[in-house]
Amino acid sequence: PQTDPRAGAAVKAADRAHVFHSWSAQDLIDPLAVAGAEGSYFWDYEGKRYLDLTSGLVYTNIGYQHPKVVAAIQEQAARLTTFAPAFAVESRSEAARLIAERTPGDLDKIFFTNGGADAVEHAIRMARLHTGRPKVLSAYRSYHGGTQQAVNLTGDPRRWPSDSGSAGVVRFWAPYLYRSRFYAETEEQECARALEHLETTIAFEGPATIAAIILETVPGTAGIMVPPPGYLAGVREICDKYGIVFVLDEVMAGFGRTGEWFAADLFGVVPDLMTFAKGVNSGYVPLGGVAISGAIAETFGKRAYPGGLTYSGHPLACAAAVATINVMAEEGVVENARNLGASVVEPGLRELAERHPSVGEVRGVGMFWALELVKNRETREPLVPYNASGEANAPMAAFAAAAKQAGVWPFVNMNRTHFVPPLNTGEAELKEGLAALDAALTAADAHTEG
Ligand code: PLP
Repeated sequence: PQTDPRAGAAVKAADRAHVFHSWSAQDLIDPLAVAGAEGSYFWDYEGKRYLDLTSGLVYTNIGYQHPKVVAAIQEQAARLTTFAPAFAVESRSEAARLIAERTPGDLDKIFFTNGGADAVEHAIRMARLHTGRPKVLSAYRSYHGGTQQAVNLTGDPRRWPSDSGSAGVVRFWAPYLYRSRFYAETEEQECARALEHLETTIAFEGPATIAAIILETVPGTAGIMVPPPGYLAGVREICDKYGIVFVLDEVMAGFGRTGEWFAADLFGVVPDLMTFAKGVNSGYVPLGGVAISGAIAETFGKRAYPGGLTYSGHPLACAAAVATINVMAEEGVVENARNLGASVVEPGLRELAERHPSVGEVRGVGMFWALELVKNRETREPLVPYNASGEANAPMAAFAAAAKQAGVWPFVNMNRTHFVPPLNTGEAELKEGLAALDAALTAADAHTEG
């Protein structure tokens, strides 16, 4: 990386003057000016380089600036940058084919959106129209997007300022053994009791009023709680029993993150609708979508689907998806996530947990890992309170600062750090990331009662 602090200062000044940032108090943020990125690394204008343990917002699954995908975007831009959604266009047709080939079961029709939130909006609209029912069940400890319906489905504090009672959303608790809502001590108990809780919730809400249940296959931002064996199959059964549409949100978990093309494949379940975005083209150009089952597609066979968007299946975004999926297949990116996740990341994180009293639990799969940081391993009191900010969040801020100091960019959410690098990160780089976490966890240990 070259050093050019003056250029960095100009970028920063224009940002601070005019860019309004997501989820932030505008006067309290200090965004790093980024000069460039390649593979699993990015760097600033001072020449400091970071290993990106976040994959951006968990989306650059093939890393930054993959030359084949960049070339495909350039070629598509030169040939046909854009075209309206009502036409058949090569890159759109091919992206849909490649996605449908990989989605589970009969999820063979693809409705393209610009990202994850609008994919969720459309999945819910399809479910309501397909069933003629109003309500949707979603989980606490979930994230489904920033638009009005999607944020109302979200089970985290980002929902609160936009909460509207009319959204027809009912929330339930999904399995999370480490902080069980069901007084469970084993995965089997957690699974059985979470399913019983869901079915009771349905009984009291009125099964015939519920259009859909939406779940992240593996909840991402909320903490990477891999569901116990049997849970998702149990939800599938409950949906079938009551005629409820089962929506799996694979915006974060999909496209290789868990070491399978889709996380649903880990559990052998087939939802009725599946949302995707992020990894579909590593976010090189905004793209998301809904994969639709045969039965729901049929609902809109002779009856118009009342929804659409100008950029549905944008040719440039679809060309990036075609190139990304082909690169992932040719370069064994999904296998890399599965293999190095099991042989390097998991043992590395477990070894860190043995030495650092701040680590309460290590959990995950593939390249999708969370460390839950605690003050006290016995009581499991979180290192910072739920939704803490300012001074109350100081221990996590100290952890993040130490990680950056050590040369990695960490994913931090509440009392957790997630280890979610690009899926094609190599063994040596992963070990470098683990070593940096070692140093950062020492900073977190200082805030424990141990
Ligand atoms: N669903 C899940 C599971 C997500 O993780 C996200 C984003 O992080 C979304 C939906 C929203 O996607 P987007 O930010 O592209 O609208």
